[in-house]
Amino acid sequence: MKKFHILTIFPEFFEGFANTGIVSKAIKKGLVYLNTVNLRDYTADKHRTVDDVVYGGGPGMLLKPEPIFAAYEEISKEKKPYVLITEPWGRKFDQKFAWELSEKDEIMIICGRYEGVDERVKAIVDQEVSIGDFVLSGGEPAALVIMDAVIRLIPGVVGDEDSLRVDSFSDGLVGYPNYTRPPVFKGMEVPQILRSGNHKLIELWRRWKQIENTYKKRPDLLKKAELSEKEIKILHYIKKGKEFEDFISDNKV
Ligand code: SAM
Repeated sequence: MKKFHILTIFPEFFEGFANTGIVSKAIKKGLVYLNTVNLRDYTADKHRTVDDVVYGGGPGMLLKPEPIFAAYEEISKEKKPYVLITEPWGRKFDQKFAWELSEKDEIMIICGRYEGVDERVKAIVDQEVSIGDFVLSGGEPAALVIMDAVIRLIPGVVGDEDSLRVDSFSDGLVGYPNYTRPPVFKGMEVPQILRSGNHKLIELWRRWKQIENTYKKRPDLLKKAELSEKEIKILHYIKKGKEFEDFISDNKV
């Protein structure tokens, strides 16, 4: 079972998430345990104060270190979790990072608010994490994004695990287009090849589309993708503006 401990001043933020779709199923199956920790429960004063002014002056408030340390120490009595803190300048969250986190048994995520957290909290942090170069009002949406991406990688969570293999970024390329019924909708037809029943050809067409989509939409990814000789040939065809059918007939597939 994978455990997530989320340190937040808004635990209610995670209720819809925990009660929806595959996350809810994973929790019910006992594959995931979601422990949302209200930092106010770890305050010592009667006002349950979690924030304070910034030393040196400046706008806004900061999350105080004491409740965060107290919650961390209690969680660590059982097992020391891998600790993430949400920060706009942290390591950029991506599919590779999600796979790495899927290997950890216990993950704690500290959700910042206001101007952020007292810097001394970093003493317990293993990794700062960002979900992109923009500023959120709190770390909760980031924690939610991270958990969602990691939970679907846990064996038994996604019904058809083959879908993980063909997801975007699983092999450095983006995904291929998919269609469902009806075969013709508002004059738009499902590509004939997908209805041909020729699985070898369908597999090749999908690979072609992945390479084409990556070239057109995310060319930056192609620099790192490890393409086979055949796939490099496909890329040359795409770059020259040729069609899948040209590739098939030229290469006698
Ligand atoms: N003062 C901070 C700065 O100079 O960038 C911004 C603080 S922001 C308003 C409040 C909190 O939201 C942050 O402490 C962090 O926990 C979270 N946050 C904001 N943007 C984020 C991002 N792109 N990724 C992850 N967490 C983010």
